[in-house]
Amino acid sequence: SLPTIFVITPTYARLVQKAELTRMSQTFLHVPRLHWILVEDSPHKTPLVTDLLMKSGLTYTHLHMPTAKDRKLQEGDPSWLKPRGVEQRNEGLRWLREDRRAQPGGDNQQGVVYFADDDNTYSLQLFEEMRSTQRVSVWPVGLVGGMKYERPVVEGGKVVRFHTGWRPSRPFPIDMAGFAVSLKLVLANPEACFDGEAPMGLLESSFLQGLVTMDELEPKADNCTKVLVWHTRTEKPKMKREEALQAQGLGSDPAVEH
Ligand code: UDP
Ligand code: MN
Repeated sequence: SLPTIFVITPTYARLVQKAELTRMSQTFLHVPRLHWILVEDSPHKTPLVTDLLMKSGLTYTHLHMPTAKDRKLQEGDPSWLKPRGVEQRNEGLRWLREDRRAQPGGDNQQGVVYFADDDNTYSLQLFEEMRSTQRVSVWPVGLVGGMKYERPVVEGGKVVRFHTGWRPSRPFPIDMAGFAVSLKLVLANPEACFDGEAPMGLLESSFLQGLVTMDELEPKADNCTKVLVWHTRTEKPKMKREEALQAQGLGSDPAVEH
């Protein structure tokens, strides 16, 4: 049967959260055998996310894990200062490993794990590309790292280097959106996780380093010549009018979920 794709997504409350999760969930509705592991960066599960998942029509697991205070990006910090979504991705991995151990039967190791941020843009074709992952598969990511795209460069069917604008010597100079790992490999390496203390740009490497070598990477998307995922970022909405009205007691009704 078709291997299940386990998608691990960190998410946090902000004005655009419901819009991001709506877009994402409706993309996933078009993907067969997808199990969404949505991990809220929060001390509890919020009603907004609980309700959205319940009504989504998806197969999902709802988790939460707050980012430790000293690890969290503060208002005004530059976005590169600290990695985001680390504890949430690790919580997703923890759940997955435990859940699979508890599943009886021979096919509890069959599947693919993908880390999907809630603001990126995903082509449906991407999921069919990653579904055949044996160990670790890779592909280009659009609009990332100050480039039109970054990608692994493939020669003779193998990844020989990376097209990236920054520190190409990193062990895996590859964005979170640019790889998937087989469930089998995740389960065979129970300690593999993301290191929140890894120096800038090395978060993906901290996870992949113990799992695979560059030589073993499986290039997808026509030998990494097609862009099927984009590292889009959503502009923070301005609330100037809202605040002005609020000051007059005429702000939007807080009972309306948005
Ligand atoms: N995220 C989170 N907590 C935060 C900030 C971000 O869980 O405090 C999530 C966010 O929802 C996204 C992922 O972590 O799924 C990556 O964050 P972001 O998209 O802001 O990172 P960037 O696009 O700047 O790499
Ligand atoms: Mn993002």
